[in-house]
Amino acid sequence: MSLLSIKNLSVNYGEHAVIKGLDLSIASGEIVALFGPSGSGKSTILKAVTGLLKQTTGDVVLSGKVLNSGTVNLPTEQRNIGLIFQDYALFPHLTVFENITFGIQNVEKKARHKKGDELLALIKMAEYKNSYPHQLSGGQQQRVAIARALATQPDLLLFDEAFSNLDPQFRFELIEEIRDILKSTKTAALFVTHNQNEAFIFCDKIAVLHQGEIAQIDTPSDLFDYPVNEFVTEFIGAGV
Ligand code: ADP
Ligand code: MG
Repeated sequence: MSLLSIKNLSVNYGEHAVIKGLDLSIASGEIVALFGPSGSGKSTILKAVTGLLKQTTGDVVLSGKVLNSGTVNLPTEQRNIGLIFQDYALFPHLTVFENITFGIQNVEKKARHKKGDELLALIKMAEYKNSYPHQLSGGQQQRVAIARALATQPDLLLFDEAFSNLDPQFRFELIEEIRDILKSTKTAALFVTHNQNEAFIFCDKIAVLHQGEIAQIDTPSDLFDYPVNEFVTEFIGAGV
């Protein structure tokens, strides 16, 4: 059974059909890219999954829980989804440790501190426990954002162009490290990007989006070796 199941998702902005009957599944622990040109509808799909917009048709089910349907639109905070954006959106007045444990205030103090220390070790930032976000590099801030998202044990992490602002020199190293973290914690992710190298390095499967429809979904190597149509061939080829 899929962890995330999107069925027949359509989103219209007024008369403009932006997402057109899209199906997408993510298995437990799997990392899937939504890869497509600017304007193809990547962010719109994420907004439907997070509940920031109402779909025109379709169902979204996560861990057996209906998030979106004809009659349901579950509030974002009840979806158990972690979000990682381009701007790290850390709380500037809180330390690294306080940022990471922000979402688990309801947990007993000792357990909260243990969890916070485990997450600091996982992102290899123990020595930055009491630092503030402005004292960190962009890559370090993004690692803290990931630890903060993992603290609540989300069913799914969503990344929207999360690494686009980072220096290319460090970006791919960080992406590989974050992939290891997701694999070691068995966390599934939907990773939105228009960067082919990021999609190929980070993801188990890549869904190529073209004008609101999935042109092909495959492993990176199959996509590369067996593109199904001209759009995929050109889009993949253009990135090499
Ligand atoms: P991507 O993230 O792949 O760049 P988006 O999901 O942001 O694409 O946008 C897909 C299409 O929907 C684009 O044509 C965009 O202009 C349009 N669009 C996005 N948001 C809105 C909106 N709030 N109102 C009207 N059109 C929108
Ligand atoms: Mg976008």
